[in-house]
Amino acid sequence: MSEPVVIVGSGLAAYNCAREFRKLDSATPLTIVTRDGGGFYSKPMLSNALAGNKTPQALVMKPVEKMAEELNATILTRRSVVSIDTQRRQLQLDDGAALAYRDLVLALGADPVRLQLTGDATPEILSVNDLDDYARFAERLDGVRRVAILGAGLIGCEFANDLLARGIEPVVIDPALWPLSRLVPQQAGAWLQAKLAAAGVDFRLGLAASAVARSEAGYRLTLADGSELEAGLVLSAVGLRPRTALAGEGGLAVARGIVVDRQLRSSDAHVYALGDCAEVATLNLPFVMPIMQQARTLAAVLAGGIAELAYPAMPVVVKTPACPTVVAPVLGQSDAQWQIEATDTGLLARSVGVAGELLGLVLMGEATKQRQQFAPNLVPWLA
Ligand SMILES: Cc1cc2nc3c(=O)[nH]c(=O)nc-3n(C[C@H](O)[C@H](O)[C@H](O)COP(=O)(O)OP(=O)(O)OC[C@H]3O[C@@H](n4cnc5c(N)ncnc54)[C@H](O)[C@@H]3O)c2cc1C
Repeated sequence: MSEPVVIVGSGLAAYNCAREFRKLDSATPLTIVTRDGGGFYSKPMLSNALAGNKTPQALVMKPVEKMAEELNATILTRRSVVSIDTQRRQLQLDDGAALAYRDLVLALGADPVRLQLTGDATPEILSVNDLDDYARFAERLDGVRRVAILGAGLIGCEFANDLLARGIEPVVIDPALWPLSRLVPQQAGAWLQAKLAAAGVDFRLGLAASAVARSEAGYRLTLADGSELEAGLVLSAVGLRPRTALAGEGGLAVARGIVVDRQLRSSDAHVYALGDCAEVATLNLPFVMPIMQQARTLAAVLAGGIAELAYPAMPVVVKTPACPTVVAPVLGQSDAQWQIEATDTGLLARSVGVAGELLGLVLMGEATKQRQQFAPNLVPWLA
């Protein structure tokens, strides 16, 4: 029997790649190694699970045994890959076992960025990037009336909106002047901020947090201007960093993410990467839709076919029911010019190129109904 295709990870990237691969190749042995429990869940649901009253267990859509059966795969759970030997095509696991591969797929995800803060409570700051994190977060919420959220990006805003559903007051802190500052122009961010504030979110913008210390109420945060606030819990949502260490130590090319070509192949001919850990044609896009495109392309390549990754523009739905929002950012341009039309009920922002092409799009409130009218005209992200 030939060596297996080995996939490291059990997130959306890993499992979608495995599913697509099995549609094309039912015979090649497949092994999945993950340091998680291996149950299939949809990570985007972590930031709107409170509104749906979902327990961590209820978020598991398929247990690991069912995944193994459906994929005809061996799934090794709660095990970490500690090194890659590309010469011998072999992985080393944390329990000392070695695992040979025909082809290796790295679907390692990304680590939450930790801010450099002072104070005795910094180790207690939570972040939610997987099901285990969510279980810890949900368990700690009992009796909490106020949660401080570091970061007013997509994930920070979504958690803020979700906490409202539990009657908890979120305080969102960010040195940027408006929410979603890396994705949308200031006027659009201010529009979102007003709607979320009207629903009960307290924003402290233009100010970084500098310290988190224990206090009677739970935690006392100090902001850059010396002001203080109390909260029962502190959640950090300040960004993600692709997990590249394993690949880098194995001699593979890494930049922001693990560098792969449009067949998702790394600098080694038998190692591939996809999902949050990968960087394709300089793009590292930590969203679900790009992962689906990558999974289909990589599955075809692993099955011996010819395929090349392309991305249409893929607008992201921000899960803030208090202000429905759809965003297609202008990739790689933080200073993009926007044309904005806003009323009390909706906002439409378009970034238009010199030839009249649609480069970026923001729809909020009632304007989200115009998605089908505008989204198909966006220029592809990777043609
Ligand atoms: C709260 C939240 C909400 C989101 N909402 C949206 C949304 O609405 N829309 C959207 O498009 N995107 C959203 N995203 C982003 C999206 O969920 C991610 O892009 C996607 O889930 C990443 O999948 P992944 O498989 O690449 O990584 P992950 O799901 O992080 O999986 C990585 C896997 O690798 C394993 N692993 C890592 N290192 C090792 C090792 N050394 N050995 C063994 N196993 C290892 C981990 O255990 C894990 O199983 C959201 C993200 C978060 C955190």
